[in-house]
Amino acid sequence: MAKREIIILPDKRLRLVSEPVKKVTADVRSLVEDMFETMYDAPGIGLAAIQVGTPKRVVTMDLAKKEEPKNPQVFINPEIVDSSEEKTTHEEGCLSIPEFYGDVERPAQVKVKYLGLDGKQHEVEANGLFATCIQHEIDHLNGVLFIDHLSKLKRDRVIKKFTKAAKRAAE
Ligand SMILES: [Zn+2]
Repeated sequence: MAKREIIILPDKRLRLVSEPVKKVTADVRSLVEDMFETMYDAPGIGLAAIQVGTPKRVVTMDLAKKEEPKNPQVFINPEIVDSSEEKTTHEEGCLSIPEFYGDVERPAQVKVKYLGLDGKQHEVEANGLFATCIQHEIDHLNGVLFIDHLSKLKRDRVIKKFTKAAKRAAE
């Protein structure tokens, strides 16, 4: 296992549309291990492969609270097959946009189809934080960031701030 570097806004790779995984190979399993190590170290509750620079449709997640045992979950080629009319608003953050948070409205419940590490198709109904997180991560696989759901003014402001910071770091 190896921790990987998390790419940060405005890295253009965050806008890539990730490729579906054809088969759950040893390479995919090792990517997943690296993603968990990176995500737990950050620490974060969800990570898409593109955030470590790999444009594959792979998501890792662990929504267990601090006092609870770890609950690592893997979603390969996740796809929303149904979403509720009912919406909910959660404050979201992102490891690729550190220390920035914003309220995002999304469907309150979604049904998600995905491949497990076992290579088999699974389906799960998500609500609450799980629903928010899986939609946030699936957005990443399509090159979409949570700031895209905010007003243009807020989005432009955060992009500008991170672009400036990246320039300063490069100097
Ligand atoms: Zn994110």
